[in-house]
Amino acid sequence: MEKNIRTRYAPSPTGLLHIGNARSALFSYIFAKKNDGSFVLRIEDTDKERSKKEYENIILEDLKWLGINWDEGPYRQSEREDLYKKYIERLLTENKAYYCYCSPDELEAQRQDQMSRGIAPKYNRTCSNKPLDKSKPYVIRLRVMDNKKIKFNDIIRGNIEVNSDTIGDIVIAKNETTPLYNLAVVIDDYEMSITHVIRGEDHIPNTPKQILIAEALGIEHPKYAHLPLVLGTDKSKLSKRHGAVSVTEYKNMGYLPEAMVNFMAYLGWNPGTEREIYEMEDLIKDFSIEKIQKSGAVFNIQKLDHINAYYIRKKDIAELTKLCLPYLKNIKIKEDKYYLESGEEITIEYIQKSIAIYQERMKRLSEINELSDHMFKEINYDKELLRWKDMTDEELSQSLDIIINTLHKIDNWNLENLEKEIISEAEKTGNRGGILWPMRVALSGKKASAGPLEIANILGKEKTIKLIENAKKKI
Ligand code: GLU
Ligand code: ZN
Repeated sequence: MEKNIRTRYAPSPTGLLHIGNARSALFSYIFAKKNDGSFVLRIEDTDKERSKKEYENIILEDLKWLGINWDEGPYRQSEREDLYKKYIERLLTENKAYYCYCSPDELEAQRQDQMSRGIAPKYNRTCSNKPLDKSKPYVIRLRVMDNKKIKFNDIIRGNIEVNSDTIGDIVIAKNETTPLYNLAVVIDDYEMSITHVIRGEDHIPNTPKQILIAEALGIEHPKYAHLPLVLGTDKSKLSKRHGAVSVTEYKNMGYLPEAMVNFMAYLGWNPGTEREIYEMEDLIKDFSIEKIQKSGAVFNIQKLDHINAYYIRKKDIAELTKLCLPYLKNIKIKEDKYYLESGEEITIEYIQKSIAIYQERMKRLSEINELSDHMFKEINYDKELLRWKDMTDEELSQSLDIIINTLHKIDNWNLENLEKEIISEAEKTGNRGGILWPMRVALSGKKASAGPLEIANILGKEKTIKLIENAKKKI
């Protein structure tokens, strides 16, 4: 085992936590934990216009929600300007960087000129030897050698080689205290003793630049592992046009953190077996960076639903109820008590039982409202829904009478007795559907719901009989 493994996740707080970025955080976390190392959180907020404190807060909250807990941080780049200043001044003093005074228009003109002559555009070094003049606006550029091979061995993708001519003298800082992304990352990864940078493939083009900067600073760069892109089902990069892309959105849709972690782990990694269910602890045991694929990882929502349904089924009912409560639109909570729209108070046990009968069917927590709403509001349905096959009104009415009479006879109201009495009555008529169907509709107002006897059991004798009587009044 390598010693003192340190990884980091370095979000820019310019938006919500994208699934692809959350996966970078997850893999960095798992890799650190697997190796008894540390996981560092660093907020890359050098872009002052686009960085927002609200986004930072949401990102931190979502990481915690996922169970991706950092050992150090959050560090903020906006609080580290003194440190960057030291490095930038060093590069300037050692003549490894220089001031560039070119205006955006001048740079654009250079670019056009190069393209018209058929050469790949890069900075033409106009300012490379200009005397210092701080009265003009400027940026700071790195001196990059011509025609130099920059090589690195990516843990996932193998050897990558880039010629420095494709890079040119890149801008590394806006001024002596404000580094741009590539420089800040290099300084911070070094200062924070990061050993492994695990991040999305979209950062591959930045890597040779970061290596050049590290070389100019005379420091060692970390090892790199670039994760495959997360793709939509059409194989293009996952974006808003595919639907929800952020952890926050999935959380609000009723996905559980365990399911998100399990699902995200499979975006580019798999254990090489048929196993589908992996909780964090087992991931940490079985994860290996070598098993990460190079090709894009498709985000398959059906798979996420399937995994989420599994974790929902596994929840104990008290816990599941807590998670479902925010989605139950017909329940009002006041001072730890629960009320229906009508003002009637209901018990937590009643809510728990009403959720339990739908636990097996739920793929997302948000579905619980529609599934169980009949337990929490006055039901409303069309008379025709009560009719089983081609029953006449008279037969339907008779069925409802049989149900009412049978229910009246039950003294000890429980599922077992309900089953015993109602099923044996239904069997006697020789037409189970003719009893159970209208009973279901009378109790739920729906053609698809939990079983009528389960519902009756929760509602209790009085309410159940009342609802069957209401159905009778419709005929
Ligand atoms: N701040 C960068 C981003 O949000 C990540 C930097 C890195 O991982 O090197 O894309
Ligand atoms: Zn210039």
